[in-house]
Amino acid sequence: KVCSSFTLARPRIYCIYIYSIYLGGNLKEAESVSYTPLHRGTTRLPRRPPAPSSSSALLRPPPPSSSAPPPPPPPPPPPPPPPGAAPPPGGGGGGGGGLPALELPALVELETGAQSYAVPSAGALDNTRAMYAYIQAFAPLESKAGTLHRERCLKVLKELLADWVRRMAMAHGIPAEVAGDCGSTIFVSGSFRLGVCGPGSDIDVICVVPSFCGGEAPGHFFRSFLSELTEREDVTNVVPIPDAAVPMIGLQLSGVDIDLLVAVMPGPNATLTHDQLLEDSVLQGIDDKSAKTLNGPRVTELLFRLTKRNYHHFQLCLRFLRHWAKRRGIYSNKLGYMGGVNFAILAAKVAIWYPRASAFTLLKNFFDMMLVWPWPTEIRLTKHYDPGLGNHVQWDPAARNSRNKDDIMPVITPAYPCMNSTYNIMKSTKAVMEGEFKRAHEICERA
Ligand code: ATP
Ligand code: MG
Repeated sequence: KVCSSFTLARPRIYCIYIYSIYLGGNLKEAESVSYTPLHRGTTRLPRRPPAPSSSSALLRPPPPSSSAPPPPPPPPPPPPPPPGAAPPPGGGGGGGGGLPALELPALVELETGAQSYAVPSAGALDNTRAMYAYIQAFAPLESKAGTLHRERCLKVLKELLADWVRRMAMAHGIPAEVAGDCGSTIFVSGSFRLGVCGPGSDIDVICVVPSFCGGEAPGHFFRSFLSELTEREDVTNVVPIPDAAVPMIGLQLSGVDIDLLVAVMPGPNATLTHDQLLEDSVLQGIDDKSAKTLNGPRVTELLFRLTKRNYHHFQLCLRFLRHWAKRRGIYSNKLGYMGGVNFAILAAKVAIWYPRASAFTLLKNFFDMMLVWPWPTEIRLTKHYDPGLGNHVQWDPAARNSRNKDDIMPVITPAYPCMNSTYNIMKSTKAVMEGEFKRAHEICERA
């Protein structure tokens, strides 16, 4: 589908895209305590008959009639509470329009609150149902069996890591009877955690380990844990990148693509909950690379909390945007376009602005926003703040000698330390994207 779309629509970047596939997945990260993706495959839609919509025209070429999408399924039951979403203490994002307050960590505040609490029109709901039917047919989520398989892989990784950490503890002189208390944590972030990943997507996994698992670069993780992984029959295609800004090991475990990242904590115990992960104090005393690595699951977790009021519509909007961008050949952070994290932040922006809106309205407002946004003014979800931890550099174009002021379309990550997630965007790729935003905007206007 992607290829046919490219050959028809964007032949110039077809070859580049193939090359990007060859290069492999993006650098990523991850989370732990519970692995289950949030709201897997659930989008609560009101029960109405399906209506024709032109929203699928966004994804030219249109699907052949022989493979027309099936009618929308009946509305799924309300999803179970997402794992790890237990409300933390702290405020932020105050309730409005009769909606519950967002449960944000203490210092996190929305950059701008809701612009409208309007409820969806019948037309917007019809278009949302059409979006849902389309995406279920042409970019379905990972199947239940596939998700279970992924969860089993994560369990294997968690056990391997815990066992390795226990043996490392003993090797560092910690008595066997307490070595098991030197905990580690596995976090999952990115599209799998947000519940928007398809069957081919990778899983971004972060291993959080105690200080004695660090050591001189490249560290014990990239020596002994890597060699234990490599020896396993179910682990293939191992590609360690210890020198990257965010060091990682790319691998396949039982056929599942995994990006394995590591964050070394300063103490002997690296057991963390989701709430602790979101506290800025988790970054106290950790090295720069580990802070960058932890930023991945911190961002993903915050995105979930920021969009909690209309998560299902945010999720559907995001799935649609990701698919649209792939079909239009502009889904790639590495190639100077936007990728998973960028679309997630931007979809969250409109979900925060319109907390009662349907996925279709979010999509339309996304393209409205992208057409009129006064770049290089940044888009950010949360206000800049400094928790006083000292050494973590944040995105700040006003800082002296900062190269941040050269950023073309800054989309800022919501967790401290904030970063620009689109630093690869160039003038040329911006122009291509603007053309695509305009086209999509026109199609949405006609819907
Ligand atoms: P995909 O399904 O294409 O893998 P994804 O949403 O999982 O999309 P990734 O590119 O795999 O996105 O990134 C995984 C996580 O790594 C993101 O959720 C984000 O927290 C972090 N990350 C990746 N790229 C960046 C970036 N450019 N800036 C900041 N964080 C990033
Ligand atoms: Mg990913």
